[in-house]
Amino acid sequence: MELTPFIKAYLLVVSVILGSVMGSFLNCTAIRIVRRESFVKGRSHCMSCGHTLSPLDLVPIFSFIFLRGKCRYCGAKLNPRYLIAELLGAGTYFVTVLCLGFSLQTLELLILSSILLCITFADLEDFIIPDGLVLAGIICRIPFVLLSGSVGKTALSSLLGGVCVAVPLLLIALLMDKLLKKESMGGGDIKLFFMVGLYLGWQRTLVALLFACISGILFGVIYKAKASKAENNVEDEEVPAGAFPFGPSIALGAYLSYLMGNALLSFYIGLF
Ligand SMILES: [Zn+2]
Repeated sequence: MELTPFIKAYLLVVSVILGSVMGSFLNCTAIRIVRRESFVKGRSHCMSCGHTLSPLDLVPIFSFIFLRGKCRYCGAKLNPRYLIAELLGAGTYFVTVLCLGFSLQTLELLILSSILLCITFADLEDFIIPDGLVLAGIICRIPFVLLSGSVGKTALSSLLGGVCVAVPLLLIALLMDKLLKKESMGGGDIKLFFMVGLYLGWQRTLVALLFACISGILFGVIYKAKASKAENNVEDEEVPAGAFPFGPSIALGAYLSYLMGNALLSFYIGLF
């Protein structure tokens, strides 16, 4: 759909606002899932003094800046992850609308990236990729397959995308488990690859795997450095030895591949 510059600018502003609110919401959802807290209990509260937060404390990004990252009631420092989650949500929604405009694809990527953000926050919080979120991702793909025009073809390419990385990874993981006699790779990572593959088809899933490995290496180096720093500091939270969340890298790889996998593939094929 062709949009006038004014409408496009308006949509981008809306996407930033919506994205920051969603980032905040998805972060809290992830924390509640890994801590098994109730969702109904609702009302956000300060983690250190327990004071219920007013709407003024909950404006994404701005509250954090105006309160200088501190609780208005007890002055405790807020965890920067809240700000980071809001910025990540805003950035993701902005880039999605900027690249894809106003289309069915935009809606699909907004849904997928929201689920991926929630998985990222959960994996960073507690090394968990909740099955419920992976299942939500699988279910959300179904209406888009049905709306695609050629349902049979899309469903087949979806399924191929689902299995092309997940199945080999599963076989490698089973083999490694046998050889090392301990769990080598998280099952959550494999299920996550299956889910994102349904959205990407097999070619872009392979691109996602490449991106995930590159970002996993970069992220792993940073993470290891932080972990060894934490070892020297007794007050810091304990980091399980050797554990390292791969979910965020898979999420990033899938997101980037959704946006530019096809362009990269045609560039690569054009080289020959
Ligand atoms: Zn407080």
